[in-house]
Amino acid sequence: MFRLHIKSYPSGPACKYSVISTFFNNMNYVDIMRYFQLIALLAVGAFLPGSIGFLKDYTANEVSGQYPIIDGIRCDSSEHFNFHYHAHLSIFINGFSYLVPGGIGIKPPDCIYWLHTHDTSGIIHIESPENNTLKLGQFFDIWGKKFNNSQIFDFKVDNSTDTALSVYMNGTAIKRISYRDIPIVNHEDIIIVYGAPPPEIPSYGFQY
Ligand SMILES: [Zn+2]
Repeated sequence: MFRLHIKSYPSGPACKYSVISTFFNNMNYVDIMRYFQLIALLAVGAFLPGSIGFLKDYTANEVSGQYPIIDGIRCDSSEHFNFHYHAHLSIFINGFSYLVPGGIGIKPPDCIYWLHTHDTSGIIHIESPENNTLKLGQFFDIWGKKFNNSQIFDFKVDNSTDTALSVYMNGTAIKRISYRDIPIVNHEDIIIVYGAPPPEIPSYGFQY
């Protein structure tokens, strides 16, 4: 088919295809394949810088470049309401309530992370475009505070009982789990206790 196609054009300088047909006729199959590989490479080379530019434009619309993606969570220019739910966090350090501040994950006027707090109620808002399970460790990372099974803030766990670190979920102490991996689900009441516990583990009444 290829040969027939070439032969159907008359040879000679008058035909604009003659240069191409002579070129191919003088090449063997391997040469021709190399030639097409070169063209393909050149095409990819021309496409790649353009597509990287496109990706940059796309992310610039969605994300404020000033604030990094943290644990896969973007800081977006507007709130998402595809998935919107609330959990509550209380922290006790040596028997005293530790205020969870408002504005965690909110960077006015630029952007808002999918995990954030609007006020000092301890309510964590999850407002996400994706139905991914977000975790307690991600919240602390967005807050910019240390938290794992052996540390909260700068309070570290050692062998003494007055440095114990416990996490309660809906009133029940959580055992044998990475605290950072605790999933944040709707109307979950999370209480973190470091050192001497409060006289009573409170429970939170959700209004919304
Ligand atoms: Zn909310």
